Amino acid sequence: MLRIDKLAHVYGNGTRALDGVDLVIPAGMFGLLGPNGAGKSTLMRTIATLQTPTSGAIVFDGIDVIAEPERLRRTLGYLPQDFGVYPRVSAYDMLDHMAVLKGVAGRGERKETVEGLLQQVNLWTVRKKALAGFSGGMRQRFGIAQALIGNPRLVIVDEPTAGLDPEERNRFLNLLGEIGDEVVVILSTHIVEDIADLCPRMAVLAGGRILLEGAPLDLIERTRGHVWQKAIGRSELDDYRARYQVISTRLFAGRTIIHVMHDGSPGEGFDPVAGGLEDVYFSTLDASRRAA
Ligand code: ADP
Repeated sequence: MLRIDKLAHVYGNGTRALDGVDLVIPAGMFGLLGPNGAGKSTLMRTIATLQTPTSGAIVFDGIDVIAEPERLRRTLGYLPQDFGVYPRVSAYDMLDHMAVLKGVAGRGERKETVEGLLQQVNLWTVRKKALAGFSGGMRQRFGIAQALIGNPRLVIVDEPTAGLDPEERNRFLNLLGEIGDEVVVILSTHIVEDIADLCPRMAVLAGGRILLEGAPLDLIERTRGHVWQKAIGRSELDDYRARYQVISTRLFAGRTIIHVMHDGSPGEGFDPVAGGLEDVYFSTLDASRRAA
């Protein structure tokens, strides 16, 4: 279990990127959802011991992460947002090299580790190809392989699906889903579907604060009876925004479909819809913006 208490981070230029984050993250997949600039990467890097917070505490399975970063690193797998290591070295050699760095010293053990991981992430057939020639999806799968060296008990992946096409994204998420129930896996993303598909627990981070936390199904259940839909003309949108709490809009067949949060029917032409995680997310962000 990962426990985060009153975590705050203020950058040198005065930006308060984390503003009192409290979170308890059990084993399994945990989704951290938030818009750009929410503080996700700052939080991920801080948990991964790459930066020291201004204040607060992080404890993972009895390890004081801030005071004992070396201890955490032995059991940590991290795929950063910008994993920019794509040299003209084969996937096999690079993973082998990274296994050495991670302390997998014995040749036999390392061979077993590297070969097993390349198979697990479906890169076995291209193991001799240079990483420089890999596609975005292949790179991210390689990124997961390196994160899993040494069987970490804490795995952090920061915005891993950005820039992947739908097929590669699915492949990548399936891979994450297979990591195992005893491992704490934190998936940070601004893409709602990444979390809906995969995470039994999640939190919404915005402006450096946790706005919402829970099981996606429970959070969706709370919106039941409060989400209403209507198809309107594009030119009417501003008017509807002024009158209602419009939480999302999308185009469908040339019309604008709006979702509105409302206790009871908002009026003529609105139909009740089963809310989804998007409605949960956008209404949470909207409420926090209104309160600000
Ligand atoms: P996210 O990953 O959710 O997009 P970040 O953690 O990258 O959010 O950023 C949170 C806030 O901190 C943003 O306002 C960002 O501009 C700021 N920030 C991030 N890194 C730095 C830095 N090195 N120096 C100053 N401000 C930063």
